[in-house]
Amino acid sequence: MIRATQAGWTKQVGFQAILSGLMAISAASAQAEEYLSGIEWPKPVMVTPGAENSLPPSDAVVLFDGKDMSAWQNGENWLVENGEAVVGKGQIVSKAKFGDCQVHIEWSAPNPPQGEGQGCGNSGLFLMGTYEIQILDSYSSKTYPDGQAGAIYKQTPPLVNAMRPPGEWNTYDIIWTRPRFAADGSLESPAAITAIHNGVLVLNHFELLGDTPYHRPAAYKKHADRLPLSIQDHGNPVRFRNIWVRDLKPRGGKRVRPAFIRNNQTGKETDVK
Ligand code: MG
Repeated sequence: MIRATQAGWTKQVGFQAILSGLMAISAASAQAEEYLSGIEWPKPVMVTPGAENSLPPSDAVVLFDGKDMSAWQNGENWLVENGEAVVGKGQIVSKAKFGDCQVHIEWSAPNPPQGEGQGCGNSGLFLMGTYEIQILDSYSSKTYPDGQAGAIYKQTPPLVNAMRPPGEWNTYDIIWTRPRFAADGSLESPAAITAIHNGVLVLNHFELLGDTPYHRPAAYKKHADRLPLSIQDHGNPVRFRNIWVRDLKPRGGKRVRPAFIRNNQTGKETDVK
């Protein structure tokens, strides 16, 4: 295709050379130009993961590690055996308080199953003591979809039913964004939850309509930015292990100037409008 004559470059070769040159200049200038956000980010803190993903990373608040219930109010009324906590008399309420957080919790429904519907392996994790993600034996129980395991009670069913059979361990890994309230008590932004049940996404940034009562519609009522977690006593001996929580804080980047394009060859900086 490309050839030179004895007399010099043909038109074809000349055109090709110009085109290649232009492309080279364009690639060089694209590489010379770099976008910078103008935000100074603190370096992410090192966190040592647990030896297994079920175990707490180095920055987690451990609420139950199989030894005792000292992290909970009313923990003395639940049974601890074989490294597991069994639902006893009354709900338990964490002594620590949390706002935006990541929660890991493992639970096992009674085997053989006892009871039916909402009476079959029922407990529940209440974020901020107010918003329930249902814990239920949804492998055995036939109940209403927005009351089964992984549901935000009476607001949404889980995307799918990812239950393991009774007696086996289920995991919830939850990302919780707390609601924001204005000073006058009005809602600025709703709570949101993402939940993974046994490795399967069951709630994808679901925005809650309010709290999760049995007897009336959901509603928001202004509350503190940090509140305890609670776990429900619904009269069924559901078992728990490996409960830990990580506080989630904004990264706290600081804008030091508008975003800009820097030409790394000439040093010229142009603000991005
Ligand atoms: Mg429940």
